[in-house]
Amino acid sequence: MSIAFVISAPSGAGKSTLIRRLLESDPGLLFSVSYTTRQPRPGEVPGVAYHFVGREEFLERLQRGEFLEWAEVFGNYYGTHRSYYEQACGTGRDLVLDIDTEGARQLRLRLPEVVSIFILPPSRAILEHRLRQRGQDSPEAIERRLREAAREAQRYLEYDYVVVNDVVEQATQQLLSIVQAERCRRHRMDRVARVVLESFRLSNVSLRSND
Ligand code: ADP
Ligand code: 5GP
Repeated sequence: MSIAFVISAPSGAGKSTLIRRLLESDPGLLFSVSYTTRQPRPGEVPGVAYHFVGREEFLERLQRGEFLEWAEVFGNYYGTHRSYYEQACGTGRDLVLDIDTEGARQLRLRLPEVVSIFILPPSRAILEHRLRQRGQDSPEAIERRLREAAREAQRYLEYDYVVVNDVVEQATQQLLSIVQAERCRRHRMDRVARVVLESFRLSNVSLRSND
């Protein structure tokens, strides 16, 4: 069964940057491309970061039960399409989801194997600097994101892991380590371990037959 790695962070903490690096480093991961009603930002290619749809299409899909979870964030709808989880399970990969804290709460109730990771910026001042430097939001939107960040950051308590995104290479390495350690948890290794143990049993049988 696939693990769903749910990654949340206050906006601007560097979540997209870290997820991109994580996916580049581990071919065993599949990214869940969310559906959203927000407008694409400059440079955002439809179907890569998001599937951009109108409100009507989003609500139709919601009614048809296509979303594993959904939430309204900054006045727009966002949802996780169940096909990504099915695709991950079908191809033996683990799923990476970039979703907000509300979506993470819903997924924990709906999927059997959820590992949640919260990314924090090193400080409020650094977060503000990164949001301004990114240059994708108006000053008002940045103010709104900062106010929201103060509220969002407190929800780190609901997560299994916390990564502080100070030096980007280090934070990426920490994410990779979490993914690798989770795959080695005993209950996820049972099938592999049984094959190893079976090889011992077979060798004992052949040793005995050689006595
Ligand atoms: P998010 O997806 O969380 O909103 P982004 O990944 O877009 O955040 O990052 C916000 C801005 O901060 C971007 O301009 C990005 O290049 C920059 N950034 C991300 N991580 C770091 C880091 N560790 N050090 C410096 N700048 C960073
Ligand atoms: P942005 O518009 O800046 O890309 O994302 C805004 C917020 O929406 C981020 O916190 C992001 O994690 C969240 N988000 C993106 N996709 C989904 C989704 O499918 N479900 C939920 N619940 N949140 C999402």
